[in-house]
Order: sequence, then structure tokens, then C-alpha cells
Amino acid sequence: MNSSCNNNTIEKGSVCTYCGVGCDITAIITDNKIDKIYAQADGYVSRGKLCIKGSRGYDFVDSDLRVRNVRIKKSFIEKNLNDMPQELKARKNTLVDFDDTWYEANYEFATSLSAWKLSQIKEKYGRHSFSAMGGARTSCESAYSLQKFARVAMDSPNIDNCARVCHSPSLSGMRQTIGEGAATNPYDDIFKSEFLLVMGSNTTEAHPIVANRMIEAARAKTVEIAVLDVRKIQLGKYATYEEIIPFEANLLILNMLAYVIIKEELYDASFMQKRTVGFEDFKESILNDKYANPDFFKQLKGYESLATTIPEIARKYATSKSMIFWGLGITEHLDGSKAVMAITHLALMTGNIGKEGAGLMPLRGQNNVQGACDVGCLPYYAPDYQAPKEVGLMTPDAVDAMLEDKVKSLYVMGEDFTHIHPNQKKAHKALEKLELIIVQDLFMNDIATKADIVFGVKSAYEKTGVYVNAMRRLHLSQPLVQNDLPDDWEVLRDIENKINGEFLYQTSEDVWNDIREDAPYRFSGASYLKLTKNRARGLQWPVGRTDTPTLHLEEFRTKDGIGRFKYHQYKLREQVEKLLNNKQTNTFYLTTGRTLVHYNNAAQTMHTDTLYSKHEEDILQISKEDTHLFEDCTKVILKSPYGQTAELNFKFVKGLKKGTLFNTFHHEKSKINYIFGDEHDDIIKTARFKSVEVEIIKVK
Ligand code: SF4
Repeated sequence: MNSSCNNNTIEKGSVCTYCGVGCDITAIITDNKIDKIYAQADGYVSRGKLCIKGSRGYDFVDSDLRVRNVRIKKSFIEKNLNDMPQELKARKNTLVDFDDTWYEANYEFATSLSAWKLSQIKEKYGRHSFSAMGGARTSCESAYSLQKFARVAMDSPNIDNCARVCHSPSLSGMRQTIGEGAATNPYDDIFKSEFLLVMGSNTTEAHPIVANRMIEAARAKTVEIAVLDVRKIQLGKYATYEEIIPFEANLLILNMLAYVIIKEELYDASFMQKRTVGFEDFKESILNDKYANPDFFKQLKGYESLATTIPEIARKYATSKSMIFWGLGITEHLDGSKAVMAITHLALMTGNIGKEGAGLMPLRGQNNVQGACDVGCLPYYAPDYQAPKEVGLMTPDAVDAMLEDKVKSLYVMGEDFTHIHPNQKKAHKALEKLELIIVQDLFMNDIATKADIVFGVKSAYEKTGVYVNAMRRLHLSQPLVQNDLPDDWEVLRDIENKINGEFLYQTSEDVWNDIREDAPYRFSGASYLKLTKNRARGLQWPVGRTDTPTLHLEEFRTKDGIGRFKYHQYKLREQVEKLLNNKQTNTFYLTTGRTLVHYNNAAQTMHTDTLYSKHEEDILQISKEDTHLFEDCTKVILKSPYGQTAELNFKFVKGLKKGTLFNTFHHEKSKINYIFGDEHDDIIKTARFKSVEVEIIKVK
């Protein structure tokens, strides 16, 4: 939708740059400046409403702090000058002082320098010495270009994106059981459903426009909701069942739900007979699992009510048209992938999949994390989830390889690696061992300050590209405002052209057409023309002649079309074990999450005053029941075996159980991610961000 309001003012439709909900937006633009962003009343995703990030979070576009040039570290030039080819050495005088640390460089020189240094490192240390990260915040065209740059230009399999620290377990768990790691239905199926189980998702803060639908349906009494989380969340107000669960008990509870469904024979035998294998073995395993009977909770002080509520939720789920929604509260754990498999088991057992109003909805975090994975920004998947020529390193392994001097150059595109990944002490040490870090970003965030070469690039509101939201909806963005900065894929093309000369793209559409060939199952029918015609509604993949709002209607996406049960027993550990054994300690369990006004490392939201002023620091939340323990201090530091946070202000809240804490992680200065270590999902290495036992150091 484009329209002209007066001579200088126009309206343009595009897609929100923040979360995975992927709301349609309409911008009013005057003289190449965004005046306002709102949603059309009939917006397919937004339904006429945006959250505060979508409606107010656009000032960053004009921020004075944007990187609007190319910067090269002075120390990098000094260190490399002698080795540079004469042609580059001779152009050193084109560098201009930017500040004490940086030169400002012309784009041509910077792409040549990047190409030379990348090639030199490859020659010296081998092709595996290159690693790339990023792509979930930018378009599919750029994400695709980054994985192609790694795999083709650098001949290295080492490509990963921030799905490593969020929904990789959803992809892994769902692919193993139903063959496709993506949401099965559109968000509007909430209105066709009868029961929603929401687990490990603070939906009103993290995916607010999806939460709006849940609340509307609950108010209209067309749906009942069950909320399971380690703390009370706002959505609980609208829920029929709301329970606070112990830390790291997801798989335990999900297996208990399956146990009740089996024990009370609430499953759909004919669905399973037609569409699944392995139920009999699964059934036997669950019935013999010493942790699967919900009565287990009768022994856990403070959590006894779960022994009654879990069977009630299981009955309601099995006998209704039901959907399950989850977020990082499920995936960022030791058993994230296994918990996701346990979620899919529930759907397979009850036939709550492959139809309208019933299905599975992993709520993806970043606006294009689904798309980045779809186009192959993962070390073990090429575009369309095909097997790559060679499997590369997942980010935690790439960090180890840096420390072992095996990875020597790193390319980061729109991912603040030194803020959002775990074990930051280790990550910082690893980066010091590199000979080259190239960053493409909008701002000098933490990783950019550590880079040798920084390319300022277009933001999502300044370019054309495809984004895939959490319900597989493709949206073709268009520039709301114009600027001369390169798009991410253009920088990659220009460096590649100085290495191999195989990236022949002139426009983002050229890149997209390559994606359609490389990822034909999902995207072959999604031409720019069709996406432009469908800009308001978008198209849900797979897109052939038509698109596909609901997946798995006739068969699953496994090789034989059949769904599978993959039983995993819960392993007793941490808080549950302590509660069971009545072990009192002076430690606390911390979980982390987002707040409504910020997105992840606040790269863009902190440069938007309206948003930043509402949340200028990460404040630790402590249970009201623990108030007496903090009377003698004004601030606290959280400490784990891996590191410690900065000094944190704190407040007491009602919605946390005794001995548990919550903190946001948006501000780099809080150093929250310094206390998370290498523990991760045991299949797919997603960090255990949702649970860490911490000591508290009191600051008087
Ligand atoms: S819910 Fe997500 S996509 Fe929608 S406006 Fe808010 S941040 Fe943007």
C-alpha cells in the first residue's frame, strides 16, 4: 500500500522490524522522515494494533549515532600495513581520522581491504578458519548472502545465526517428530481454537500482538487458557489455569501431561493409527517413568497444587481443539529440544495438529529468525533445510575454535555477539585471539567496538527485502525512507566480487530469485510480483501456486509423511531435586526475559527516546517473600561460577516464588549474560539462559 497525502507526505506499508510476530505497519513519511507508524484496521497480522515498539520505535532511523560510514580501526591498519599489497598500501592516505580509535574509510578501499585480509587468513590457516554469524535481524536476501559468502566465497561451513540462542531446539525437536520446525497454523486460529496451553512464553511482553488475540478470545469465552511459567505473568489474569512451576521442570511436566492422557485413555487412537508410529513404545515408557505421575508434585513444598492442575490441563487439552504456544522458557534449557519433542507428542496423541484451530506455535523471537533459518543460516542446514555439503560449527563450538586458534576471522552481520550470547568472559577472550573481525550494523554496539572493520548499513526501514514471521508469513518490505548506505547483501557482494566474482546480483530481487531456486519447496512460487500484490496479507510458506496457512493437513514433513514419538525421560536436577530433598541453600535461581519496550540488546530501541526512557536499566526482581534477606543492602551483584553481573538495583514483586529471581538483559552495562556458562541444550547447544543458580553479593 502506497499513497500520497500531500506533496511531501506519503504513506507506505511495510513490516515491523522488531519481534517475530511480524506486524504489518503503515508509515506516514514527510520529506524522507518517518512521522508516524500505525496499523491499518484490517491489518492481517496487526488487526489494527501495534505494540509500543512497532508504533513508537522508529527514531533510531535518524539517530545521530547511526554508523553512516565505514570505519577501520587504526591499530588494525598499523598491524597490517607492512603485509598489505602495494595497491592497498598506496591508498592508506585516503583514510581520514574519525576519532582516536577509528579511521573513516571509503567503501571501495574497505571492501578491498576486507577481501585481501579474509583471503590472507584463509591461505594461512585454511578455509575452516572463517566463521560467520548473523542474519535474523535483516532480510532473507542478506541472510542468504551471508551463508553463501561463508560456504561459497570462503569455502567454510561455519555459519550460524542467533537462533542458536533462541529457537534452535524448536527446529530440532519438531523436525525429529513431525519433520518441520515451524508454526503449524496462522495466529488467527486462536479464534478457532477451544483451548490454549501457553508454556514458557511471556506473551504479553514478548509477542504482544499474539497475546491480544489470546486475551480477546478469552474475554469472548471462545477459548480457555492454561499458563505454566516459573513466575506469574500478565496473561495469567485471563487463564482458567495458572501455575508457577519450578525451574527446569518443563520436560517433567510435559511428560506428566502425556501420562494423564494415556492413563485416562484420552488419546485419539484413529489419528495415531493413520498418521504416527511408535506410540506403543512411547506409552510403555511413559507409564514406567517414575517421574511421569503428577502425584510427584505432592512432595514438592510450594508446588503441591501442580499434582491436581496438571491432570486438569491434560484432560482439557486432550478433549478440546487445542493449540500449544511456547517461547524461550521452553527452549533455553538443558533439555529444550526434548521438551519440544514432548510438546509435539501431545499434539500427535490427541490429533491436535493438521487442522484449523489446533496446532503448535513456537513464538519466534526476532523478526526474521524463521527466514534466516529457512535460507540456510545454520551450520547443519543449507537453504530449505537441505543437507549442506559440510556441517559447520555451532556458535559455542566456533568460540572454542577461536580459543584454539582454529578460527581466525569472524564476520558478524546484525548480531551483537558480545552482548546476547552466554559466557561472555570466555567469548571476549576468544575474540582477542582473532586476526580479523568484520561487523555490519546500524550502531557501534559492543561487538562493533571490538571489530577491525565496521560497515554502516541500511536499516529494515530503508530497504527492500523479504521477512518471514513466526507463522511462516512472507512479507516483502519496502524502503520507508531513502539513504545511500549499502544493504547488508551489497557489502557481502562487493567483498565477494573482490575474492571470486560470483555474486552477480544487482538488486535484492536478483538475490531473492536465487533463493527461490535454492529453496524451492518453501519459496519457488513467491515472486516479488506476487509478494508485492499480497503485501497487505503476506504469503505463508510453502508458497507454490498458492500459499499454505495450515501445515500437515494430510501428512507430516518427515521422509515417510508419518509423525514419530521420541520419548525422553526427565532427569532429576537443580531446583526440583533440592525441593525433593528439602535442601535449603543460600543460593537463588535466576531466569531472564524481555520487557515490552525493548528488543534483545536494545540495538534500536535504546536509540529511540520514547522507549529508552521507559526502561533505562535492568532491575532485578526478587520475591516479596524474600524481602527480609535484603534489608541491609542497596544493590546486589549476581555471581555464578562463570562470572558476575554489574551492580544491580532491585525491587520486590509478588509473582515470584521464594528463592527465585527475574531480570531483563537488555542493557550491556548490566552484564547479565556474564553469569551464564557453557551449559546448553544437549542436542543443539542453545544456552541455558532461563535458569542459573546464583549467589548474591550484597552491596551496602
Ligand atoms: S508485536 Fe512485535 S511485530 Fe508487532 S508491533 Fe510489536 S514488536 Fe512489532
